[in-house]
Amino acid sequence: MATFDEVISKAKTVAKTAGKKTSELIEITRLRLDIAEQEREMASIFEGLGRLIYDSKKTGEDPSSLVDECVASIDECQAKINELKRQIDEYRYTLRCKECGAPNPDDAAYCKKCGTKLE
Ligand SMILES: [Zn+2]
Repeated sequence: MATFDEVISKAKTVAKTAGKKTSELIEITRLRLDIAEQEREMASIFEGLGRLIYDSKKTGEDPSSLVDECVASIDECQAKINELKRQIDEYRYTLRCKECGAPNPDDAAYCKKCGTKLE
């Protein structure tokens, strides 16, 4: 028999899924565009990084401080992308793991983050 809390959380999940509106789909689309933009930026930094290494070989100049800057910028882009993906998951996945709280697809059997069996 389900506990009171389980019944309530199930009801909330159903309500949230049923309440998925156009505004949420628009928001997901916007987040996806933001990710694409970050990925483009990251690609251009990688390109710049390659050019930097090439130039430094040609000129003999030490590129390490600029390389560090590029690496930091790439990490920043990656962190932004991860955060945007997390936000999309929040919209798309309404099944919460009881152990770690991670959002999971409604038909998932196990938590994608910690592996706990989902009910
Ligand atoms: Zn979990």
